[in-house]
Amino acid sequence: MRLYNTMSRTKDEFEAGPVVALYVCGVTPYDTTHLGHAFSYAAFDVLIRTLRYLGHEVRYTQNVTDIDDDILKRSKSIGVPWDELGREQTELFQRDMSDLNVLPPTHYPRATEEIPGMVGMIQQLVEQGNAYQVGSQVYFAAATAPNFGMLARLPREEMLKRFEDTGDSPNNPEKRDKLDFLLWKGSGEGEPSWDSPWGAGRPGWHIECSTMAVRYLGPRIDIHGGGDDLIFPHHSCEIAQSEQATGQAPFSRIWMHNGVARLDGVKMSKSLGNLVMVRELLGRFSPDAIRLYLLRHHYRDSFDYDEKELVRAANDAALLQRRVEKIGADDDVTVDSDQLPQGVKVARRLCIAALVDDLNTPDATRAMMELATIDGDEAGIILRQLAGVMGLRLRRS
Ligand SMILES: [Zn+2]
Repeated sequence: MRLYNTMSRTKDEFEAGPVVALYVCGVTPYDTTHLGHAFSYAAFDVLIRTLRYLGHEVRYTQNVTDIDDDILKRSKSIGVPWDELGREQTELFQRDMSDLNVLPPTHYPRATEEIPGMVGMIQQLVEQGNAYQVGSQVYFAAATAPNFGMLARLPREEMLKRFEDTGDSPNNPEKRDKLDFLLWKGSGEGEPSWDSPWGAGRPGWHIECSTMAVRYLGPRIDIHGGGDDLIFPHHSCEIAQSEQATGQAPFSRIWMHNGVARLDGVKMSKSLGNLVMVRELLGRFSPDAIRLYLLRHHYRDSFDYDEKELVRAANDAALLQRRVEKIGADDDVTVDSDQLPQGVKVARRLCIAALVDDLNTPDATRAMMELATIDGDEAGIILRQLAGVMGLRLRRS
């Protein structure tokens, strides 16, 4: 399989072992799922299904950032306790994902249940001289990590700007270097806090993912994924912390990043409020229609939401479903690969070849549509199999 690796900026050959360790950054649960989330998690879901189809076991960890400035802000503004808000929103997110037929992760850790591990990793970084304490805060000393920011390849000024945008001000006078970032912060009045050697407080966002990835998948993982807005600072900081704490590198062999969903040319974001919600779409379209629509965009390409395309996808999903219903044979019948008609073989080969070429789902869905035009039970059975790799149920709803 070839996967585009943000670290090398090329499509790298990914030699998968029997077990593939995958980590994908999860949501901050304070507002329900929008189309950008669905785009990202559906893409990684197809990656997992493709690897399984090829005979690999996938150990998949996705975290929940259930303590965060945004959650606390939202909790205050709507008057719901922060932990209750996080629980509720996590459940809604999980329901949206399961409706979209996104397979649940093997491990689904919540940041608030992993605090001791985070404290342990920070302590180690402090002891090793990679981090330092100022009052109730602890900062990671970026200069102690060789090639800090290599994943992002950004000029220093741009890195500083992105730290500012993500609430880790470079101009904070406590920092020895402007690129240093928070590992632990003292809690404000009335804010939730946990005990630590540096006083009551809570972990920074980046150390959460490092700790959970290493705990559940080990010091060296195969694939780390997330939205391309996470390349800096989040993933760059994760690399620095994890590699310094474990003494092993690379933290991840492949870094995969997906593009964003836009509305009228503007990135969908909670802060702008220009969101297309998955729950709303599920009221009007089938999960298969939404998935097919999303998978017609390559995961690395950002795209504009277009309802006309979604309607077309709904028609095509219905066509695929009708085609599969025409299969005369028993549901669990297996077909002899060597005996398949030529056209069926070609369509299957094209579909799988597209998926193993950096998850080219637009080409894979085209091959599926082609397969649907071929008569005979074999074509229908292989179509159903490939639809399963794409996460389409093709059942009457
Ligand atoms: Zn993360």
